[in-house]
Order: sequence, then C-alpha cells, then structure tokens
Amino acid sequence: MRKTIVTLLVLAACVQVWGQTDSAALRLTRGRAELLVPRPALHPVKSLIPPVSAVGVDTIATENPVVKIVLLSDGTYKYWKDPAEVLKEDTFNTFWDNYGSDPYRRSWESFPEKAYVWLVDDASQYCYPGDLSRIDISSRYGYRRTRYHRGIDIRLPKGTPVYASFAGKVRMAKYISGYGNVVVIRHENGLETFYAHLSKMEAQRDDWVEAGQEIGLAGATGRASGSHLHYEVRYLGYAIDPEWIIDFSNGDLRHQVFTFKKQHLDPNFKFEPESDDEEELIALADEEDRLEAERLEAERKAAQYYTVKSGDTLSRIAVRYHTTINAICKLNNITAKSTLRVGQRLRVK
Ligand SMILES: [Zn+2]
Repeated sequence: MRKTIVTLLVLAACVQVWGQTDSAALRLTRGRAELLVPRPALHPVKSLIPPVSAVGVDTIATENPVVKIVLLSDGTYKYWKDPAEVLKEDTFNTFWDNYGSDPYRRSWESFPEKAYVWLVDDASQYCYPGDLSRIDISSRYGYRRTRYHRGIDIRLPKGTPVYASFAGKVRMAKYISGYGNVVVIRHENGLETFYAHLSKMEAQRDDWVEAGQEIGLAGATGRASGSHLHYEVRYLGYAIDPEWIIDFSNGDLRHQVFTFKKQHLDPNFKFEPESDDEEELIALADEEDRLEAERLEAERKAAQYYTVKSGDTLSRIAVRYHTTINAICKLNNITAKSTLRVGQRLRVK
C-alpha cells in the first residue's frame, strides 16, 4: 500500500514537472541522470525562509546515486543530495583541516582566469545567513584604512539565529582570536563560508548542515564592537567580496552561478554590477541548454514503435523499417539473441 502511494506521488510529480517549460525538467521525465546538471539563470534566487517546516516522509533513489527525491509531509517533494555520497567527493577529502582559515595555501598565479562556480541547482538551495526581515550592513568588504576586511558585517542582536547559506560540511567550529566563535562550512562547489563573532555555536566540526539550518547565534565574541555577524566567502582559501554572490539590499542570491574571475582575489575588487559580456556568457549557456532540450524533444517525437506479432524476427522487422538488427537492439537495450514476445513493444526508429 505504502509503495503504491509513493508510486502515485512520483507519477504526480512527473506530470507536474512535465507541465513546466523548463528544459531541465523536460529531461527529467526521460529519467536521464544529467537532467540535474544545473542550468544557468539570469534571474536572482530567493532565500529560503527558515525554519523550513515540512519534514521528509520518504526518500526515493534516482539514476544518479547522489540525488534522491524526498517526499515531504506537506505533500510536496524536493530533490536532495545525499551527504553520504557528496562527502566522497574530492572537495571534502583534500586540503581539509580543522584549524586553519586557508588550508589550500595556493598562489595567486595558480588560479584560473575564469571559473564557473555553481551556487544552487535543482537539488541544492540557498538561505540568507541572517534575519531577512531586517538587513542592516555595518561594514563592507575591502580595505578599512590599512586593514583588509575579508567579509561583510551584518548587524544582528545578540542571540539572533544564524543560518548556513548553502549545504556543506563544517570544517571548523571554534574560537579564533579576531573571529571569536567562528563556524566555517565548506560547500560542494569549493566555496567556504565563515560565520564569525557568534555568541553560541550550534553546529560542530565535521557536521553536515543543510542550507537554512541554524548553526549558531549572533554575538560579539572576538574583535567586535557591538553584536554582528561577520560573513565571509572564500574561494580556495581566498576571501572575495560576498556582494558578488549575495545582493544585500534584499537577501537574494544574485545568480545560480557565480562567474569567478582572477580579479576577485584582489581586495580592491569590490562589487560592481556585472558587465555585459558576463550576461552574454550566461545567456549563451542558457541557449545551448534550450537547443539540447529541443533536440531531445525532436528525438522523442521521431520515435517509432512496432508491436511484435507471431512469427516475427528481428531481421524481418529490421528490413521492414529500413534499419538494422543492431540499431533496434541498441534502442531497446536487448541483444540479437533476445527472444521476442508476441505483443512486445519495440522501438524501431
Ligand atoms: Zn567583519
């Protein structure tokens, strides 16, 4: 009975997805694993509003071992990446320690000129780290006279919850002079986020946290005048201006994908609205995705099927449809020696 309900829910989910025009969703109905490869979007991504109340009631595997479908108590579903699988990735197993702010120690020269860093996709979300209803920035990234400020300061009363902005593994949760109580989370895309001056740390070293999970309470530990959250974003050890990623005027994520440029490593490279060429690149990737979806759709429409009748053989069917035994075998995932059943539906084109 339980299984039937689950099957129905999945079918309902597929139908719902089929109705959307999103090309990634179109591919979903064909059961292809690569459908969950994220597609770039020009539009900003809204923050989750914590706490997320619906709880998972069941989990279903997909073709991709990392991605699962979680059925929620409120009747909806979501894609979810299984931490047990994600944690096998190199990102969490190399240049990993529990004491340093930069375990990579890379030289500026070793960075690529440009890299696309995926922030969210169909199976991962984003959450603004502080209180969305009252965003109050007291200090921005960059040089303050002679001192390099590696993050952004968000005024938050002592005891206000602080949330993980993306899912990831806690690399550090401890007191460091200057930072005070700081939680450092490494994300699947290689970024790390720092949450400093906490009055209380709730996540612990090596914990897996989901986006929007409460990881501590704001405070003024370490070098801080007044209670605030010092929020830092690092790419392979280097701090970059968080405003390249988050729009602190409303708490939105600027894009699903962050286009990293070597210039971002420069403390003087503060946020400025993105240049036209960058928009163009993202639009181009979007267009490629659309064409791919069209190609798949055309392929699906062109498909022809034949129902096996008594006395049929693969060679007879192949001749009839001007194709080869090999081609039919490939399309139906069978071998030339497979026994045909009367009434069996074979794809011939
Ligand atoms: Zn700060």
